[in-house]
Amino acid sequence: QGKVYQFKLVLLGESAVGKSSLVMRFVKDHFDEYRESTIGAAFLARSVQLEDDVTVKFEIWDTAGQERYKSLAPMYYRNANCAVVVYDITQPSSLEKAKAWVNELQRQADPNIVIALAGNKSDLEARRAVPTQTAKEYAEESGLLFFETSAKTDTNVTKLFDEIAKLMPRD
Ligand code: GDP
Ligand code: MG
Repeated sequence: QGKVYQFKLVLLGESAVGKSSLVMRFVKDHFDEYRESTIGAAFLARSVQLEDDVTVKFEIWDTAGQERYKSLAPMYYRNANCAVVVYDITQPSSLEKAKAWVNELQRQADPNIVIALAGNKSDLEARRAVPTQTAKEYAEESGLLFFETSAKTDTNVTKLFDEIAKLMPRD
C-alpha cells in the first residue's frame, strides 16, 4: 500500500515546556497533568498517512531538558531529519533556551534538517508572556516552521507534525 518514508525526529527544549506531553498527545492522543520527567531520552514512533500512497513514519526521540543531560543531545540530533524545538509561551526564558538549541542545530546538525519551533501551552493564554508575533518573526528570520501548540487541549499538535511530514524529502 504505497511507499513508507521513515524519518528521525528529535525534540529539544528546556525542562517542563511540554516536550513529552506533545509526543504523548501525538503518539497516544493522551495528556497527563503530572507527567514524570524524562530521564535521558525516550523513543516513540507514529506513522502519518499523507496521501493514499504516501506514509511518513516518525521515529521520535524525546530528550530530557535538564542541563545534566545536555551533553547527550548531539547523539540524538546528529542524524535527525527533523527537530521540534519547544518553548512555553508563559516563560520567556524558555524561548531564549529554544533559540540556543536552534543555533546549535544550525551549526552542528545535518544542514538539511527541518526545524520547527513550537510555542507550547497555548491554552494558558491568560499567563502568556511571549507574544505570538515575537516568536513568529524570529522563526521567519531563522527559517523555521512555527506553531503555537497545546498538548493539553490538542491544539495544532497534528498540524505541527503534518507540516513537518510534508517538508520531508521523498525519492
Ligand atoms: P518536558 O519536560 O518538556 O517533557 O515537559 P512535560 O511534558 O513533562 O510537561 C511539563 C508539565 O507541563 C506537566 O505538568 C504537563 O502536564 C504540563 N503541560 C505540558 N503541555 C502542556 C500544555 O499544552 N498546556 C498546559 N496547561 N500544561 C502542559
Ligand atoms: Mg520530558
